Amino acid sequence: VLEVRNVTKRFGGLVAVNDMSFDVTQHEVLGIIGPNGSGKSTMINMISGTFPPSAGVIRLNGQDVAGKPAHRIAQMGVARTFQLVRLLPELTVIENVVAGAAFGHRRRWKGEAERYAQTLLDRVGLGGVMNVPVSSLTYINTKRVELARALACEPEVLLLDEWLAGLNPTELQTGIDLIRSLREDGRTVILVEHVMDAIRSLCDRCVVMSSGCKIAEGTPADVLSDAEVIRAYLGADEDA
Ligand code: ATP
Ligand code: MG
Repeated sequence: VLEVRNVTKRFGGLVAVNDMSFDVTQHEVLGIIGPNGSGKSTMINMISGTFPPSAGVIRLNGQDVAGKPAHRIAQMGVARTFQLVRLLPELTVIENVVAGAAFGHRRRWKGEAERYAQTLLDRVGLGGVMNVPVSSLTYINTKRVELARALACEPEVLLLDEWLAGLNPTELQTGIDLIRSLREDGRTVILVEHVMDAIRSLCDRCVVMSSGCKIAEGTPADVLSDAEVIRAYLGADEDA
């Protein structure tokens, strides 16, 4: 579904992503893991069109997306959540989801869009708080709204940037179960994550980044026992 070829991103003199190449196949959960600052969010931001790559090609179903504006890429079928939650605080839960769906690749009439948003909010466990302003929600619930909003775009590829970060142990288990249910639906997901339990139990395959480069690729069991991967994580400990 998604091809990333020789993608590089420079911020001034800093090479945040260095010649990355990987594929995402349909119905696959691909983990992108690596120490803090290794370039994971930068990679996701290029796929979703937050900013363009400095070099390289990103194709969705054979169509070039690199450098296209974010709303075009959303229409083409890529939806995401953000590492730092981004919602419209004045709007209610359901209004946020309906507003997000407007960027998706299928247009729905208002009533239909609301019904669909309700179904998704039930799915993520927010059926009971659809009409409250998102500013009154707990942190995990803001994350759930973001997930429902991304799903409302009916994406072909869903990008989750540390969706599980900052959750307590109970919330974490609920969150893992929720992502697992998406996987069982056959969704194609790129999961940027630090939570090892989640990586082990959710990812079909992982790409490991360190200092902007891909240092390993394979099953979670393989990459997490790879000596170079372990070294990359330990080396980053001081500033983690
Ligand atoms: P974390 O696990 O902490 O979220 P990450 O792997 O997502 O880390 P990135 O956020 O992609 O890492 O950052 C990679 C490098 O690029 C870092 O050195 C960061 O400071 C830098 N960087 C990221 N975004 C920008 C930007 N918009 N402008 C300048 N530098 C940036
Ligand atoms: Mg990040």
